[in-house]
Formats: sequence, structure tokens, C-alpha cells
Amino acid sequence: MSVKKLPVSDEQMLAFANDYETPFYLYDEQAIRAQARAFTAAFDWVDGFKNYFAIKACPNPEIVKILKEEGFGADCSSLPELILAQQAGLSGEEIMFTSNDTPDEEFEAAYAMGAVINLDDITHIESLNRVTGIPELISFRYNPGPGRTGNAIIGNPVEAKYGVTTSQLIPSYRRAKELGAKRFALHTMVASNELEATYIVETARMLFSQAIRIYQETGIRLEFINMGGGIGIPYHPDQKAVDLEWVSAKIKKLYEAMIVPAGLAPLRIVFECGRMVTGPFGYLVTKVRHVTQKYKKYVGLDASMANLMRPALYGAYHHITVVGKKSQPQDELYDVTGSLCENNDKFAIDRQLPAVVPGDVLVIHDAGAHGHAMGFNYNAKLRSAEYLLQEDNSLRMIRRAETMDDLFATLKF
Ligand SMILES: *Cc1c(COP(=O)(O)O)cnc(C)c1O
Repeated sequence: MSVKKLPVSDEQMLAFANDYETPFYLYDEQAIRAQARAFTAAFDWVDGFKNYFAIKACPNPEIVKILKEEGFGADCSSLPELILAQQAGLSGEEIMFTSNDTPDEEFEAAYAMGAVINLDDITHIESLNRVTGIPELISFRYNPGPGRTGNAIIGNPVEAKYGVTTSQLIPSYRRAKELGAKRFALHTMVASNELEATYIVETARMLFSQAIRIYQETGIRLEFINMGGGIGIPYHPDQKAVDLEWVSAKIKKLYEAMIVPAGLAPLRIVFECGRMVTGPFGYLVTKVRHVTQKYKKYVGLDASMANLMRPALYGAYHHITVVGKKSQPQDELYDVTGSLCENNDKFAIDRQLPAVVPGDVLVIHDAGAHGHAMGFNYNAKLRSAEYLLQEDNSLRMIRRAETMDDLFATLKF
């Protein structure tokens, strides 16, 4: 079970919805910091442990800055994300560049910044060599293929466009070494929104095995393994968060059983999680415009799937709180919709809620990752502002809402 609470009192949330134009995103700074600290503390046995926050989950430099203060780096997949990491004050090996189908200029930028370049493909060794030369430190993204099963969001590894296959792995490290690489790392990303703790432990086992195989076949000792992102969050109240302490303890056991006897210690372990760092601590705050009855009952919000696409895209569950109506019976069944001319613009289908009236404030939970970031402008919708809920319960704007001028800017050329 996970409890779906608001980060402030109902009265305070109603006051925010009154004082600031809805819809807007709100991120709980203290909770994000606490989560980052808990993640790092769980892996305190790993010397040099780091989570490279996946910028795509919440691409706001103020959030990345907070995470930098908590010791995190950034995982970037494009030039703008690299620049964003830089704006947040990160540099060099605090940044991992995990891209695919990579353009030359992004290799150039990542190389110039001294970021850890994580190659997605065996042919990218030659591409990178042509563009910048091979840096001293190089990482490869591993795709285990039929050895592992994926899940709905990321798909099956065999069908995935990403990574270096099992048989390509050894030739990749050999070639990179030949071209001058001196330090090596191994990365994978095989799951997304994974709540099964054993799956994460198995990923460590898989990477440890490959680290040993790489050493046996090439003599190369890896400096670190990157377990990727993909640790899930309990979107539904019936789900439970991953027990990081448990995962860490199991990984430590494997490390002692596999890495230490192979003579490969110390081997750093890092992650690049986005969702579990900010997801549960971001809220989409929205007001009810209309409540109506057709063949079903509908609640129409001032937010739409252009603000939060996950329910429409994946059928994802996002918990909804009607602010100030906790004590009322949840005896109405609604579809909760946005205003796009798109029938799948729904935040919830057949959701049991208290009776709702126009003007009510709804909070959509677990929107802090892959939320605002996935926003779009279809139907000429404008993306909302983002606010940081600070320790003193005040809000600080960290992104303004889009204006029509923003929308029309690309028509002026
Ligand atoms: C999306 C992504 C992540 C982050 O995933 P989360 O589910 O947000 O933890 C990390 N690494 C890579 C390569 C990704 O594509």
C-alpha cells in the first residue's frame, strides 16, 4: 500500500489554486531531497555511488540543481539536455551521455564537455572516432536480447533498438581499447517503471557476469557499471514502493560472491533513475470546469493530456484527489477528461470520486516525472507553469506558463 497524500494542507492547496493560474505543476523540494538522500544512503557501501538523474524525466534546471546539491549527476540523451545539465552547474563526468541514433554534433558536444559517453551501438565506435576520437573513458549500453524479458513501457530487449548485443560486447571493448580508450564502463536499461525488486537485483547479476566475462576475455577491468533507470513508483495506492535497502543488500551479496572473488573490486555501481526520484513528488493541480452527464458522467478539467499524457498514452493510473472532500463518500463514478478534441483525453475512466462541482480543485498525483516533460501543443494548447514547493510552504516559479507568443514564435521566420 502507498498512501496518496497532498504535500500541504487542503486549505493551503486551495489557496495555491486560487492564487496561481491553473493548471500548474508543483514539485515538493523537501521530499525530492529526502528521496535522493535515501537512495544514496541505501547504497552507502558502494564507494562513489551516484545516481545520474535522467533529465528527460523532469527537464528543469532548478530540479537538476537541487539534485546536484544532493550529490546526483545527470543522464542526458540530447544536446539540449546536455546544455540543461550545464545550466544546472554539472560538468565533466558528473554527466552521462546515453543517446541513440546520435548526430555527430552531439558526440562533439558531449566529448567537449568531458561527459561520460555511453555508446549505444558497435558502429558508433567508428562514428565517435571519426568525429572526436575515442575519449579515455568509454561506456557501452548492453542489450541482453533473449536472456531477459522487458515490460510494457520499454518492450522486450530482443525487439529493442538499443544497445550492443552479447556477441558484440567483447569486440566493442577491444576496438575501443585499440583506439585509445583506457577506462571502461558498462551500462544497461532493460526495464521501465519496474516495481519488482528482484528484477533490479537480476540486472546487477547480469552486469556483474558480463563484467567478469569482459575481464576474462580482454583483460579489461571495468571502472563502473550503470544499472540504468527504470525503478518504478507506486502509481496505484495498492502498489508498494521498491525497498531500496533490500535491493542494495541483495546486490551487495552478489558483489561479494561474484566481483570480489574475480578480483574486480572496486567496481563502482551507479544508476540513472528519473521516475523514482521526482515522480511521486510532483503534482498537477487543476480545476473543474464542467460536470456533466451523457451516457456516462464526465468531469471536465482545465488540464488536458497536453499537460500530462501518461494516462492517455499508456492507460496509466494516476491517483486523483478532490481537494477538501476527503471526508465525503466516494460514491460517484466519473470519467475525468481534458478539453482536447481527442476522446482519449482522459485522466481517469470510471473513477470513484466524491461528488464534484465546477470550481473544485483536483490534484493529480505522481506527475513529477515524465509529466510536464511529455507535454505538447496539439490543439494549440499551452504548457503550464512549474512551481517548487519550498521548505516554508511558499511556491517559487521555476518555469512560466507558455503564452500564445511562444506558440506562434516559430511562424515568424
Ligand atoms: C528513460 C531513461 C532513463 C530514466 O528512466 P526512469 O524510468 O525515469 O528511471 C534512464 N536511462 C535511459 C537510457 C532512459 O532512456
